[in-house]
Amino acid sequence: MLETSALTPMTDTLGRPLRNLRLSVTDRCNLRCQYCMPEEDYLWLPREDLLSFEEIRELVAIFSDLGVDKIRLTGGEPLLRKDLPTLVSMLADCPRIRDLAMTTNGVLLAEHAQALYEAGLHRVTVSLDTLQPERFKRLTRRDSHAKVLHGIAAVRHAGFVGLKLDTVIIRGTNEDELVDLIEYGKHIGAEVRFIEYMDVGGATQWSIDKVVSRAEILERLEDRYGQITPVREVSAAPAERFHLPDGTLFGIIASTTTPFCQSCDRSRLTADGMWYLCLYAQRGIDLRTPLRAGASRDELKALIASTWQQRRDRGAEERKELGYRGVLIRLEGLKDDPHLEMHTRGG
Ligand code: SAM
Repeated sequence: MLETSALTPMTDTLGRPLRNLRLSVTDRCNLRCQYCMPEEDYLWLPREDLLSFEEIRELVAIFSDLGVDKIRLTGGEPLLRKDLPTLVSMLADCPRIRDLAMTTNGVLLAEHAQALYEAGLHRVTVSLDTLQPERFKRLTRRDSHAKVLHGIAAVRHAGFVGLKLDTVIIRGTNEDELVDLIEYGKHIGAEVRFIEYMDVGGATQWSIDKVVSRAEILERLEDRYGQITPVREVSAAPAERFHLPDGTLFGIIASTTTPFCQSCDRSRLTADGMWYLCLYAQRGIDLRTPLRAGASRDELKALIASTWQQRRDRGAEERKELGYRGVLIRLEGLKDDPHLEMHTRGG
C-alpha cells in the first residue's frame, strides 16, 4: 500500500509538488474566441469516453491521496456540463480538497451561480477580455456580452468572495482596455489578472508580435497610475501580483515572456480522463482505460505517483528558449488529436 500524506505531496524531478489539478469537465464551449477556438466546428471527444461524475470523484480521491488539495473546474466551458452542481458537491465532500474553484466564460453563470455556491464551490474566476459588447462579439463570435456581465453580478449576489477576472491581452485587440478593466474590477470588487497571449494548442493565429508582455502591461499601467509595487509573496500561483498606488491589487500571468515552470504545481485532466503534466505537453497519460478496466485504487495511485515523480517538463521555458517561435501546433495536427487543443485541456 502506497502511504502518502496530503501535507507532503509527492514531488517531481525538479522538486515541484503534485498539488493542483485542473479538471476539464467538457471540451465543448459556447464561445469561439479567436485565440482559443478559431474554427467554428471541431472534432469533439466521444460522449461515451467522458468520465462520469463517479469516475471523476474516484480519480480526484486518488489524486488527493497523493497531495492534490486544489481543484479547478474548467473546460471547454464547464457550465455546459449537465448537473455541474452535483459534481461540485461530490468534490466538496473530498476531505483533502481545500480549494475548489472554477474558471468560466460567465455566459451561463447567472443561471447557475447560486446552485454552485450552495453545492460548495469556493471560488469563481470569470474570463472577460473586453468591456465593449461589439468587440466581445468580434472576439468570441457570439453576442453574449450582457450575459457575461449578468453572470459576474450573480457571483457576488450568490455569496462568493474572491472573484477574479482573467483577461487575455492581445495586441491590436484589447490592449487599450487595461485601465478600463482595472477600473471595472475596482468597481465590482474583483481582482483583475492580465494573461499574456500564449502559443498553446488551438491558438493557430498566434504570433509573437501580438503578445503584450508583462513589461509592457506594467509600463502602460504605470503611465496611468504611477508607481506599481510587486506584492512580495511565496506562491505557486501563476499570477504575479502587484499593487497600484491606491492599494488596488491586480495580477499578470506572464507564461509567454516570463515562464514559471520552476514552481508549476499544476496538471490537467481532460473530460475523457487523459492526464497532462504540462499545457504544452504533446502526450498525456490515459487514466480512463485502467480505471474502466477495473484497476485498483492502489494501482492507479502507483501509476500517477510514478508518472509525477519522473516529470521533468518545462514547456513554457522551452518555448521561450526557441530561436524562432511560431504556432505550437498547426490546424492539421489539431484535427488529428483534439487532446492537443487548449479547450480540451482546460486553461
Ligand atoms: N471556458 C472557460 C473560460 O473561458 O474561462 C474555461 C476554459 S478557457 C480554455 C480557460 C482560460 O484559458 C481562459 O481564461 C482563456 O482566456 C484562456 N486561454 C485560452 N486560450 C489562450 C491563449 N491562447 N493564451 C492565453 N490564454 C488563453
